[in-house]
Amino acid sequence: MEQHNIAFNIPPHTGRELEYIEQAIKNRKISGDGEFTAKCNAWLEEQTGANRVLLSTSCTHALEMSALLGQIREGDEIILPSYTFVSSGDAFVVRGAKLVFVDIRPDTMNIDEKLIEDAITERTKAILVVHYAGVACEMDTIMDIAKRHNLLVVEDAAQGVLCSYKGRALGTIGDFGCYSFHETKNFSMGEGGALVLKDTAYVEEAEIIREKGTDRKKFFRGEVDKYQWVDWGSSYLPSELNAAYLWAQLECADKITTDRMNSFNEYYEGLKDLEQKERITLPYIPKECEHNAHMFYFKCRDLEERTKLLGFLKESGILAVFHYVPLHSSKAGRRFGRFHGEDRFTTSESERLVRLPMYYGLTEDDRAFVIEKVREFFGT
Ligand SMILES: *Cc1c(COP(=O)(O)O)cnc(C)c1O
Repeated sequence: MEQHNIAFNIPPHTGRELEYIEQAIKNRKISGDGEFTAKCNAWLEEQTGANRVLLSTSCTHALEMSALLGQIREGDEIILPSYTFVSSGDAFVVRGAKLVFVDIRPDTMNIDEKLIEDAITERTKAILVVHYAGVACEMDTIMDIAKRHNLLVVEDAAQGVLCSYKGRALGTIGDFGCYSFHETKNFSMGEGGALVLKDTAYVEEAEIIREKGTDRKKFFRGEVDKYQWVDWGSSYLPSELNAAYLWAQLECADKITTDRMNSFNEYYEGLKDLEQKERITLPYIPKECEHNAHMFYFKCRDLEERTKLLGFLKESGILAVFHYVPLHSSKAGRRFGRFHGEDRFTTSESERLVRLPMYYGLTEDDRAFVIEKVREFFGT
């Protein structure tokens, strides 16, 4: 029998990465904000309509920059889902914030917008939304709540690059948007991300924070004749070598998205009747949301069935995985946060969720084999 070995993720590589990295070396510019960083920023601004996009060293760091820009202080409360990656909370916890977790919607696995208002106190400073699998949260409702209560909205759009909600790019709806270009994301630079600013209000301050609290950016633009330490900040500027890698990916963004979308649609079609037979639940994409096939997940009956399924797939040479352990049940999550209201779906839905192999270049044969094995597990 043919031995399969299907990875869960393979970092994207489209062909010109080394050429561009070599170009950066020839440019004698391997620190940040050279030709490639500028190209990536400009391209992302054009695609998203954001006023400014600034490549950063990670999405986690873009979230940290948001916390600095939003003046998050000791004792401030941040409302967020518990079903997310640790960075969504950690970036605010390092500023002394308290996390207030609210439940998710079982259909999209996103924060339940109807539960947010009840969690607001006089200490609430921001709502942190996570667009799970690149499928948008109910942003009109969330922005309306934020406006009425004078709260900041930070979008963890780590998975939502080139996705949209009612025609607006994810990351450009709230006050701050945060992208990830980690090797597990659709477009990659190894480790990296971007801060997205929808309007001009925070641009100058963000440039200062990103450059160790200096006005170096102004200096390079010739606006001041000497650069100085002017405010707080850190080192959030990625190397040109990483930006060069990313540029090769962004140039091929359509190709990457089409390829992933094909895999997503194949999986969906191949498993559709299992949903009709009520064996699994397939992902739901609200009609106002355009996604990027970042992930293909489905939900089985419960934790026990999922454990068996993952084991069965592994034995067949397929690496399928589960996802977040809810933050409120982790050691740090209990210390830095509290769950507001009832955990109706966060724990139970996360325990049912399975992610299938998904990466740029996943072959038709491999996809078909994954579908075949999932079907075999469910006896169809
Ligand atoms: C990947 C991811 C992050 C972290 O991204 P980094 O670039 O590795 O810091 C944060 N939030 C979510 C939802 C993610 O998927």
